[in-house]
Amino acid sequence: MENTKEYTNGEVTIVWKQALCTHSANCARGLASVFKPKEKPWIHPHGATSEEIIEQVAKCPSGALTAYYNKDKKE
Ligand code: SF4
Repeated sequence: MENTKEYTNGEVTIVWKQALCTHSANCARGLASVFKPKEKPWIHPHGATSEEIIEQVAKCPSGALTAYYNKDKKE
């Protein structure tokens, strides 16, 4: 998809699909150390643990955010 960005901390990768994001800022409220809408890049994958990231990504209401463990992507 167009304008898909990926941010990894080496263990998990956050995938953000800009076109789907409704800018509800749920992510910024829930995990402000990672999601910083006023900054560029706005996602800081080192700002929290992988578990916290996975948990917050699951709460994105629009489906713009997804995440995967890097180890799961490798064959
Ligand atoms: S929670 Fe999802 S839809 Fe809302 S601002 Fe974050 S990425 Fe965008």
